[in-house]
Amino acid sequence: MNQHYQNLVQKLEEITHLSGVMSTLGWDQEVMMPAGAGEARAKQIAALAGVIHERMTDPALGECLNELKEKDFDALSEPERCNIREALHSYELETKVSKRLVQELAELSSRGHGIWVMARQENKFSDFAPVLKRFLELKQEWAQCVSPELKPYDANIDLFERGTTMDMITPIFERLKQELIPLIAAIRAHSYQPNTAFLQGRFALDKQEALARKISRDIGFNFEQGRMDVSVHPFCGGSHPTDVRITTRYKDSNFVESLYAVIHETGHALYEQGRPHELGDLPASESLTMGIHESQSLFWERMIAQSKPFCSHYFDTIRAAFPDNLKSATVDSFYRAINTCKPDFIRVEADEVTYPLHIILRYEIEKGLFDGSMQVDDLPHIWNELMLKYLGIQPPTDALGVLQDSHWSGGAFGYFPSYTLGAMYACQFYKTLLSEQPDTEKHISEGNFTPIKQWLNEKIHRQGRLYTPQELVRRVTGEALNPDHFIGHLKQKYSEIYGLTSV
Ligand code: ZN
Repeated sequence: MNQHYQNLVQKLEEITHLSGVMSTLGWDQEVMMPAGAGEARAKQIAALAGVIHERMTDPALGECLNELKEKDFDALSEPERCNIREALHSYELETKVSKRLVQELAELSSRGHGIWVMARQENKFSDFAPVLKRFLELKQEWAQCVSPELKPYDANIDLFERGTTMDMITPIFERLKQELIPLIAAIRAHSYQPNTAFLQGRFALDKQEALARKISRDIGFNFEQGRMDVSVHPFCGGSHPTDVRITTRYKDSNFVESLYAVIHETGHALYEQGRPHELGDLPASESLTMGIHESQSLFWERMIAQSKPFCSHYFDTIRAAFPDNLKSATVDSFYRAINTCKPDFIRVEADEVTYPLHIILRYEIEKGLFDGSMQVDDLPHIWNELMLKYLGIQPPTDALGVLQDSHWSGGAFGYFPSYTLGAMYACQFYKTLLSEQPDTEKHISEGNFTPIKQWLNEKIHRQGRLYTPQELVRRVTGEALNPDHFIGHLKQKYSEIYGLTSV
């Protein structure tokens, strides 16, 4: 092997291994760490972050990458070229920004989070507004440094969904608005509402956990190379494809929430466990983008686990876990109950039909803030107007409105679109799976998830970072991202559940 390239592999693998340690520390902090260790842990994390940053910005790494890019690139294999491309991209992201700006962003993120928590608690947007204003200035400056060729908001989106721009997103989101706003209005106007009474009550936590573990294992989570634990917010972490860790939380008043959180996180975990790590602990073997990751979790949560065949396979098992609560329920009533569509203020609790409008609202606001057509001080008003226009409801407080998400308090602009891009990718992937494997619904109803997992492994997980998300979608489905699949899915499913005839 080329000496320069060998040298590069050594440097990049070291960065991956250190990042794995960081990720384990982060998991431990959320799941196991005694509360009193917070301060010591913050110092450990800061020290390790410093070491990783040093390695990532090492001028010798930059020289090595540029040398390879200029002299040896064409002679290398596709995964090797991918490693160079990806490593160069992160090297540039890390080194193009001045130390002063990096520090100011880090400082504002940690201070901003505390201010946001208080502002939300006291329902006082004006306390949070200065943080938001300063973040916008810093993020504009940051965008100018890292991608001067892109519009500032596009540079922020690029961080989460590489290669995706407002020019691609806006027409897709306009189409979603055009179709989903009337669909939601029709559902609201309809007198029928699914009966969800049997989902209320008390559900023993040990039964919930046993059920979640069973379903996670059934759909393919490998517990030999993964764990499932409890944390305040469900997440998927871990240090390596052979060490993937998911979490959930249990409420004794609601089993559907924790069960579907586990299925969601299992979708993320299958992606991580399916990565091609025989290519080395290198960028080419990593997962692609936020949007593609979310497509994997939503594929299992929405396309599979909220489907009728899935409900029919698991209904008896679920009823056996909670016999008193579910004695009057049927497969059909269970399916309808878990697919209730009801506009609500809070994004994270939204159903699959209303969710995209929560995202579009945030996208339009971020876009407006970056191009100067919206002002921070007007956000509570703008937020409430858009909620009324899109979902027909208005939050009574800013805590239930503009202050609900933590993203902006950490300066994460451009993150929100990846949730809905993920939902649309998931639907388009599922449509392709159905056409390539017409027995898929039968497999689901028999609890045979292996062919589905294998298909995802081969088509998506094992592709690592070889392609951009746009190329991957095209290679897997034969076309670019097309919102019609998602719109068609929602219209058909919810017209049937709600008995709508005119949408
Ligand atoms: Zn997710």
